[in-house]
Amino acid sequence: MNNKGLLMIISGFSGTGKGTVVNSLLDKYGDSYALSISATTRAPRSGEEHGREYFFKTREEFELMISNNELIEYAQYVDNFYGTPKKYVEEKLESGSNVILEIEIQGALQVKKMYPEAVLIFLFPPSVDELEKRLKTRGTETDAVISERMSRACKEIEYAYDYDYIVVNDTIEECVDTIHNIILTEKLRAFRQTDFIKNTEVNLNGKYC
Ligand code: 5GP
Repeated sequence: MNNKGLLMIISGFSGTGKGTVVNSLLDKYGDSYALSISATTRAPRSGEEHGREYFFKTREEFELMISNNELIEYAQYVDNFYGTPKKYVEEKLESGSNVILEIEIQGALQVKKMYPEAVLIFLFPPSVDELEKRLKTRGTETDAVISERMSRACKEIEYAYDYDYIVVNDTIEECVDTIHNIILTEKLRAFRQTDFIKNTEVNLNGKYC
């Protein structure tokens, strides 16, 4: 079987629960996954740590990463830049981990161009009302921010057609199992198993063909 890891991207509207889903996936199936930590120019929020949630960078440091070709992709989101460091992702894929990128849409589509075999998952809320409710019950956002996030969803949804899977985050447990099953199934696809097929073919040829 092919032991190389799979590159997977999880995107979704603000309030869909991407962070919770990714953390639960790591809690439950942590041995199979590695979470990529992005670089960003945004300031840390309270409780966030450099190297845990993000690598916090100045604009100059971020630009240097771009010119040194250290990022797989980067994008501007609101007023800040976010990007995926290449080295960690490539090392983890090589060592057999499935690498999770929790990134927004522009970045996801750049990754798909560079790594066409990447699996793109778009998390959906069970309903629009539920999305609004989740944003409100988070309690961290003002009404203006909530309506800005809802209208951002109107634009983002156009890109959902370009993703490989739409997964509804109704209950976390079910959502996590669905994603894990997608990854297990994706790994069995014939184009990811060419070495295994070839090897079996050689053994057949040596003996029976
Ligand atoms: P936040 O500032 O709330 O942590 O993240 C804002 C948005 O940036 C989220 O949609 C998140 O998925 C996205 N994001 C985080 N890291 C990256 C990255 O490396 N690349 C891209 N393109 N988006 C990212």
